[in-house]
Amino acid sequence: MVDTSRDFFNYSYSELVELLERDFGATKFRATQLFEWVYRKGVTDFDQMTNISRELREKLAAFFTFPKARIHDRRVSSDGTRKYLFEVEGGDLVESVMIKQPNRMTLCVSSQVGCAMGCKFCRTGTMGLKRSLSTSEILRQVNGVIEDARNFGDSFQNIVFMGMGEPLHNFDGVTRAVRNLTDRFGYGMSPRKVTVSTVGLVPAIRRLASSDVSVSLAVSLNATTDEVRSKVMPINERFNIEELLAAVKDFPVGPRKKVTMEYVMLGGLNDTEDDMRRLARLMRGLPVKVNLIPYNDNAGLGFNTPARDWVFTWQRYLNSQGLQAFIRWSKGADIAAACGQLATESKKVSRFPVVDQAAA
Ligand code: SAH
Ligand code: SF4
Repeated sequence: MVDTSRDFFNYSYSELVELLERDFGATKFRATQLFEWVYRKGVTDFDQMTNISRELREKLAAFFTFPKARIHDRRVSSDGTRKYLFEVEGGDLVESVMIKQPNRMTLCVSSQVGCAMGCKFCRTGTMGLKRSLSTSEILRQVNGVIEDARNFGDSFQNIVFMGMGEPLHNFDGVTRAVRNLTDRFGYGMSPRKVTVSTVGLVPAIRRLASSDVSVSLAVSLNATTDEVRSKVMPINERFNIEELLAAVKDFPVGPRKKVTMEYVMLGGLNDTEDDMRRLARLMRGLPVKVNLIPYNDNAGLGFNTPARDWVFTWQRYLNSQGLQAFIRWSKGADIAAACGQLATESKKVSRFPVVDQAAA
């Protein structure tokens, strides 16, 4: 069994302050320095942390571990998107995707091995849930990609929790990772640039709303009637569209910031003209923008991808109704890296991600 209390990446800043004061007789300032070395400079070798006394460094080195992300496989798409397969504790495999967009890159990370939500159009959903990832395992994906990105001379500007798993079903692991991503002594990212995407776990959305963690929210709506939504997303039997939209309405968004409503277009099932009009009506008065995601058929789950023109028709119509709407065409399709394609078995891979024109 791994001793997670020694794993540096599992500590928040305030927990580290407490630990250093209690067990090492060190001041808060030392925690600040440590966080800066690790998260800002990417240094985990205590010998290099020369602004900390040798004596303290030796004690810290004897205590802390910095588990490395092991890249099991990496594939580069012709469009510049990269898919990483990371080996985490116990040999489990999860995927992260570095998505290439016109002016930036977005890193898509996994929150669980598999997923319990069972959405019918999603490959991860067919795996079932194996387990949730620890904060450290989530941050290791980030560290691992940052390190490898040096080989490509690039970096990411946004992080989205849209890889394998339902982030709000791993509430603690994910919110603690978000804390370190946005902590000013940690990665220092703006909460606007870190997005958690949820299937619609209403109590968890409300819990997030009232917590002190600041993060952008995306919600997978994917249907305009409870009948259709329940067919493809079993979670709708527990929290229906009305309850979900009420939680979205109550979610605190800053000025000029919006919740992203994701809508996977399943040809002939949830993308009729009636759906298009109903979606605009449902969104009225909510602080939202819409991401249209044409179904990615690499999942091979028997749904249809809508025609390109029809997707543009939806976008134009939603725009005409005063709604911001973006289209997320699949990226990295040639390396199985698009939305809904992510599924791994231990020591084997097969998954895909979609790319976002408008994440965060
Ligand atoms: N569990 C979270 C985040 C991971 S899924 C959630 O469901 O929101 C990320 C996005 O991929 C979701 O919006 C989901 O609806 C979408 N998705 C899943 N399968 C897909 C597929 N086959 N084609 C296109 N998008 C898909
Ligand atoms: Fe899980 Fe999201 Fe896939 Fe649904 S769409 S099965 S919630 S990963």
